[in-house]
Amino acid sequence: MKEATFYVHLPHGGIRCELCPHHCVLTEGEHGKCNARSNQQEKLIAENFGVVTAFCIDPIEKKPLYHFFPGRQILSVGSFGCNLKCDWCQNASIAQQGRSAFSHISHTPPGQIVQQAANSNSIGLAYTYNEPIVWYEYMMEMAKGIKEHRLKNVLVTNLQINPKPLQELLPLLDAVNADLKSFDAAFYLNKTGGHLDMIKKNLRTVAESGVHLEITFLVLPLMNEKQSMFADMVNWIADELGDRTVLHLSRYFPANRMDDPPTSLDLMHRLFDLAKEKLPYVYLGNVRGSSTTASTFCRSCRQKLIARNGYHTEIVGLNPDGSCIHCQEPICVTH
Ligand code: SF4
Repeated sequence: MKEATFYVHLPHGGIRCELCPHHCVLTEGEHGKCNARSNQQEKLIAENFGVVTAFCIDPIEKKPLYHFFPGRQILSVGSFGCNLKCDWCQNASIAQQGRSAFSHISHTPPGQIVQQAANSNSIGLAYTYNEPIVWYEYMMEMAKGIKEHRLKNVLVTNLQINPKPLQELLPLLDAVNADLKSFDAAFYLNKTGGHLDMIKKNLRTVAESGVHLEITFLVLPLMNEKQSMFADMVNWIADELGDRTVLHLSRYFPANRMDDPPTSLDLMHRLFDLAKEKLPYVYLGNVRGSSTTASTFCRSCRQKLIARNGYHTEIVGLNPDGSCIHCQEPICVTH
């Protein structure tokens, strides 16, 4: 546990958290919507500071990031809590729980995780599994240590974060994979508790900062895949963030409170074809046996540059600087 950074005292008692757009107002003992921050003696306390619930070396492709150090591995860490409440959450066992579920877990200092990243064959550290924004202070301390070791910081996030904390975090980041859950503001609010305007604004901020950005869109049948809205989203990504932005279309499988059947392969491929009309780098995730929709082809000369099959990655056409060996088109971040 640690005192949190972004909060204010209210004139008539209580405190207000300023980290994310919920702006939770908390009286003594109350928890925020994320289940991870609470008012303890008129201080905002980050209850997940030092609590590691998931820890693993993963292929970078699993984040997913396909144009950032392809074929390399990254140490990945998660804690608990989330500021959204999605029925289909794939990590509900840690994301939608509070401190009491993890009372058996002892404190892990940030420096210990950093040292493990430095001692491993990892490119750095990924903040992932549950929403890292709600363990902002823990992430920040690790991210500073990772930079001291000249390693990479990767954030996997819903990007529901207020401008000031985002601005303080961005200089420490090297890559972001952000979940864009819909292009319908009412869906965002009613089904996730988040705000479409905020993620659009924050995606622009990340793209303008020069931090490597990839987007994941989980395809939820009959919920967020209406063709006209999907086309609007793809056009917006191309126009506002740049047509080099990498888009991952991820296949839904039943999880948490949702038991609808998985997204059909037919729908996945239709959306893939639609997105490819505007964006050269679109990939299907959670779809087995389809290396064409997982491999990277140069947007300029169309040659295959990275062959992927599951999490097996083979570089077949990249220069060490990440450009295409055939036409020198810039493709990936590799240093
Ligand atoms: S981070 Fe948590 S406590 Fe703070 S505003 Fe967001 S949901 Fe509320």
